[in-house]
Amino acid sequence: MKIHRGRLPGAATQHRTDTFTGAVWADPVLAERHPPRTVNTVCFTPGARTFWHSHGDGQILIVTHGRGFAHTRDGAAAPLTAGDVVYVPPGEEHWHGAADDTMLVHVAVSLGETRWLEEVAEELYRRVQGAGRAG
Ligand code: MN
Repeated sequence: MKIHRGRLPGAATQHRTDTFTGAVWADPVLAERHPPRTVNTVCFTPGARTFWHSHGDGQILIVTHGRGFAHTRDGAAAPLTAGDVVYVPPGEEHWHGAADDTMLVHVAVSLGETRWLEEVAEELYRRVQGAGRAG
């Protein structure tokens, strides 16, 4: 057994850029290579989000602050708020991120290899945002 106390000792907070839109910061909490298992506390600034992607063995997101969205290819975008827990099954293509007027902070438990895809189009993000507001 190994206890991880909030973040990996000595690891700097990471400014995530390549596969994210907007300013996203992540604190590594746990990083195991074999098999790949990571836990990160991720802070999305308003309007920031991941690219489309999937996780080889799935992902669990625990929302701790703010509001945002999780969205799959074939599903409606689900609004997220503190206390929500999202389960993403292995291989399901999706993205997650903040609403445009607030941060979103979640703890991401990511299992297996992450497969990164294309950026979430601004038009799609706007549409999700509008639907979230109406609902
Ligand atoms: Mn994900």
